[in-house]
Amino acid sequence: MQATLAEEWPAFEAIHQQPSFTSIRLNPGKQKAYDLPKIAWTDFGYFLPERPSFTLDPTFHAGTYYVQEASSMFLEQAVKQTVDLTRPLRVLDLCAAPGGKSTHLLSLLNPESLLVSNEVIRSRASILSENIQKWGHANVVVTNNDPKDFQRLNGFFDVMIVDAPCSGEGLFRKDPKAMEEWSEDNVALCAQRQQRILADVWPALKRDGILIYCTCTYNEKENEENVGWLVSEGKGESLKLNLPVRQAGVESDWEIEEIVKNRIFGYRFFPHKVKGEGFFISVLRKKEEAEEVSMRTKTQLPMVSKKIAERVNEWLLHPHHLILLDDLIVALPEQFSTEINWLANNLNVVTKGTAVATLKHEKLIPEHAAALSLELNRNQFPKIELSLDHALAYLRKETPLIGEGQKGFALVTYQTHPLGWVNLLGNRINNLYPANWRVRMGG
Ligand code: SAM
Repeated sequence: MQATLAEEWPAFEAIHQQPSFTSIRLNPGKQKAYDLPKIAWTDFGYFLPERPSFTLDPTFHAGTYYVQEASSMFLEQAVKQTVDLTRPLRVLDLCAAPGGKSTHLLSLLNPESLLVSNEVIRSRASILSENIQKWGHANVVVTNNDPKDFQRLNGFFDVMIVDAPCSGEGLFRKDPKAMEEWSEDNVALCAQRQQRILADVWPALKRDGILIYCTCTYNEKENEENVGWLVSEGKGESLKLNLPVRQAGVESDWEIEEIVKNRIFGYRFFPHKVKGEGFFISVLRKKEEAEEVSMRTKTQLPMVSKKIAERVNEWLLHPHHLILLDDLIVALPEQFSTEINWLANNLNVVTKGTAVATLKHEKLIPEHAAALSLELNRNQFPKIELSLDHALAYLRKETPLIGEGQKGFALVTYQTHPLGWVNLLGNRINNLYPANWRVRMGG
């Protein structure tokens, strides 16, 4: 780094003694805007003056925002500048947990698009699924697959994001432990793994499809060399992104380094130049032919009966394709039922669409994902607005006495944002917050 940065090295070294910034990205489906300093390259990102306890904020659990460092939000520029977002798109986020890029993509894509959000490590796929449910969209499938499994999906995707596992040099300030894991051998290992990931997933991209490759590391082996490999093999062309023109004497938030080398464009973020952590991003357009796989499947996902479908669709703002998985009723956007059925036959799907209710002896028990869904027709349910203390008790899965005298399912809210369900039993309540999501906090 010292050799590459030359006279900038002291500033780079010094910034590592400074605390990193805390930033959040709001969920435009749930929250309009914040009165906070904005992050320049995204419509949804804000800096916080200090790091609060997010655990103690019920609106965090309601999915009104996601905690994410600022440089990563540049994904929005890469997408907006290279993808026609008015078209219905099939998008793959290959290395998606815990869900920063996927939730961001859901805010950018039009509702006619479908996102496949994949994570290879099972435990991390569960966290990903939780964060996706909090975001509230139904046009998404969470999968738990190895990159090579996507070879079955030849030419299926219009856009792919590969936020590859890397040596994490850009995280040394935020997470000093990352330094202990760094070695030259590890960099070489990461670079090899990244190339394998790219080679495995590449066939699943359409001709003229867009691949966005990013890492949170600086070295060329894991960045330029991997992108360069796809370009030199003639598989893709690297795309230039627009950065605002620098004006002499004017301090800019966009002090992003543009790398132009061997027909590739890359964008590197240094913490001594931008208000964010280290990051690298590059965009490619596929030049090779890729015949699209035909979506033929033997099995169909079982649909719910017409009678039940009518009742469930009343809970939703728009009619959905409703399937029954054992006793779980899941809502899929009508236009993707074929795609999702086919994906379920070809990949290890963790969650798809939005789980709306469990069917028990003809009775519908609302699912937690429905409470957090942007598709929920809230007018169908009694709502109970909670105080901060009651909201935190609810999230700890305690049973604060609320809705006394009332009976039936009710939606509990905090500052009008749904947190989940309770079943009111007259003189006591059943807290339906998912046991494995229970918030652990002192006091
Ligand atoms: N995109 C995520 C976000 O914005 O929240 C962060 C992704 S993180 C940089 C890289 C992810 O790749 C991790 O979740 C990790 O488990 C996953 N991963 C690790 N090894 C992998 C492999 N061989 N193939 C694909 N993904 C892998």
